[in-house]
This record gives sequence, structure tokens and C-alpha cells, in this order.
Amino acid sequence: MQPQAERVTRAAVPALDELLGVALPVLDDGFVRVVDYMGDDRAVVQAARVSYGDGTKQVSEDRGLIRYLLRHRHTTPFEMCELKLHVRVPMDAWRQWVRHRMVSINEVSSRYSIVTDSAQRTAPDAWRRQADDNRQGSAGCFGEAEGAAFTAGEREVHALTRRVYEEKIARGVAREQARKDLPLCTYTEAYWKIDLHNLLHFLSLRMDAHAQQEIRAYATVIGERIVARWVPLVWEAFVDYRLGAASLSRIEQEILGAIGAGDAGRACALASEAGWLERGAAGLKRHRERAEFEAKLAGWGMTVPWAADLR
Ligand SMILES: Cc1cc2nc3c(=O)[nH]c(=O)nc-3n(C[C@H](O)[C@H](O)[C@H](O)COP(=O)(O)OP(=O)(O)OC[C@H]3O[C@@H](n4cnc5c(N)ncnc54)[C@H](O)[C@@H]3O)c2cc1C
Repeated sequence: MQPQAERVTRAAVPALDELLGVALPVLDDGFVRVVDYMGDDRAVVQAARVSYGDGTKQVSEDRGLIRYLLRHRHTTPFEMCELKLHVRVPMDAWRQWVRHRMVSINEVSSRYSIVTDSAQRTAPDAWRRQADDNRQGSAGCFGEAEGAAFTAGEREVHALTRRVYEEKIARGVAREQARKDLPLCTYTEAYWKIDLHNLLHFLSLRMDAHAQQEIRAYATVIGERIVARWVPLVWEAFVDYRLGAASLSRIEQEILGAIGAGDAGRACALASEAGWLERGAAGLKRHRERAEFEAKLAGWGMTVPWAADLR
């Protein structure tokens, strides 16, 4: 006997429907546009409960289940939701973006089409300085006067590379070859489809302070303006347990335990055992893991037990 057909309705999220096709601006000429989506908060819950069907549980129970799933990294229910975006991104940010492999991508072909005449520009007050403590990062900005020279140089390069590109195209050079001198700031466009589990992974890495500011700007728009509307319960749990959460290693927990017990000596001994308190000619040597833990303590308003050695 054939099983009886169960009535199924497609998930619709009116708050996200309002955004369909709307280009949300990012940087000076980029955007993120929702093209389509599948699923919602209830699709996550339904997948987790599999056999219960939907519509029988209270929102509060759904919320609790979603929070439990996210907290305990039960990931597959989140894979039941999908998001398709149309994005316009400078090549340097796109190069970081495409490292996320658990997605489907179709990018505009600059072998086939003329490259859009759009390059990301930097305002005079937005040139960032190289960070001292992180070779991959930036810290603080140049003054506007100094930055104006960088912006002027940038404008020249953009104009020159565009002119050279267009000249080659006009004279019949193949598009696939003519494009090679265009700078990394040139905008590209793509369709990008990803499931919610991998999207949260992308957001946790790319909304993080360690991510480059440009890709962070995209991730923030995707997270705060799209995901927060689309799956508000998942977003809330993600902010609580991933984005706003801090992890604690075994060593960190033991040191915290010693601090909690008021035993600063033991906390220092544990840090020393872990190799965090090695001395050089200028006092304590730099230690990345220790510095990260110190930043966590500072964030919680706690004193570093070995603070005297840091001076
Ligand atoms: C701040 C920052 C700095 C970075 N710096 C550098 C850098 O200097 N150099 C550099 O090269 N990259 C760098 N990256 C890129 C980084 O190493 C990852 O490639 C990128 O973040 C994608 O992460 P992912 O592989 O987890 O994501 P996805 O590719 O989306 O994969 C998601 C998950 O699927 C699984 N997976 C996917 N493919 C495979 C596979 N082939 N085998 C096994 N498991 C797989 C893994 O569990 C993975 O975590 C940086 C990333 C960040 C966020």
C-alpha cells in the first residue's frame, strides 16, 4: 500500500521575502542580494525531531531545541536550510571568500565578458597601518593628509590599468589575456549558495576581529541583515554560543580555577609550567597563547596574576 501523502507547505519567511532581490550595499560599490532561500527556524527543528512533524511544538520549545543543537554542535539539522546570494566583491576579498569550499559558486567569467569598470577605492582617512602584534592584521589609520596621497596614487593606478585593459580589448586581444593586468581591487560578481551550517562557520570566521575588514563588512551584512531576519532563533543561538562565546583550554580553566580560589601563586605556577612565562632580557617574552588569555581576563575585568612581570 502507498503511504498517505502528508500535507507539506513550503517555508516562507516574510521578513526575508521583503529583502529578496534588494542589493544591500557593502564597501564603496559592492553588494549582497538574497536571490533565494530554503527552510527557516522550523526546518531546523523539524529535521532534528524528524518523525514528530511540525506545528505541534511551542516556539519556546523550538528555541530551546535550536539552542541545544547549536551548543552541542549537532550540525546536520542546520544543513537543511539553504541560502542563495548574488554578491559583488573586490577580488582580494573574494580570494579569501572562495576558500570556503562547502558551497556552490558561479562567478562571472572575465574570459567571456568585459570586466566591469569598478574597482574598490579607499578614502583618505581609511588607510590602515600594519599591526605590530599581528602580521596579518592592521591597527589604526593614517591621518587624512598622508592618506590623501595614497588615495591619489590608487586613483592613478586604477585609471592606468583600466585604460591599458580597454586598449587591449579594443585592439582585439583575447579577454582571457587582457584581464591579467587588472588590480585585485576590481569587483567581481558571483552567485553563492550555502547551507546554514556552513554559513554559520563562514560567519564565525569572517565576522571575527581577526578577519580582514573588507570581508568582515560582507560577513556582517550577511549575518546581521540577512541571517538574523531569516532564522532569528538560530541567529540568537549563534550570537550567544559562537560569535559572543569564548573558548577555554584545559590550561586556561586550571589557571582560572586557581584565580577563583584566590591562589595567584598557583595560577602563575600553572602558567609557568605551560611555558607562558619565559623571561628574556626585556622581561617576559611574548607568548601568543598567554596574550590571548590575558585579553580574555581583561574582557572580564579580571587582573592578570603575573601582571607585575609584564611591566
Ligand atoms: C583570519 C583568517 C586568516 C587566514 N589566513 C590564511 C592564510 O594565511 N593562508 C591560507 O592559505 N589560508 C588562510 N585562511 C583560510 C583558512 O585556512 C580556511 O581555508 C578558510 O577559512 C576556510 O575554512 P574551512 O576550510 O573551515 O571552510 P570550508 O572550506 O567551507 O570547509 C568547511 C569544513 O568542511 C571540512 N572540509 C572541507 N573541505 C575539506 C577537505 N578537503 N578535507 C577535509 N575536510 C574538509 C572541514 O571540516 C572544514 O572546516 C585564513 C582564514 C581566516 C579566517
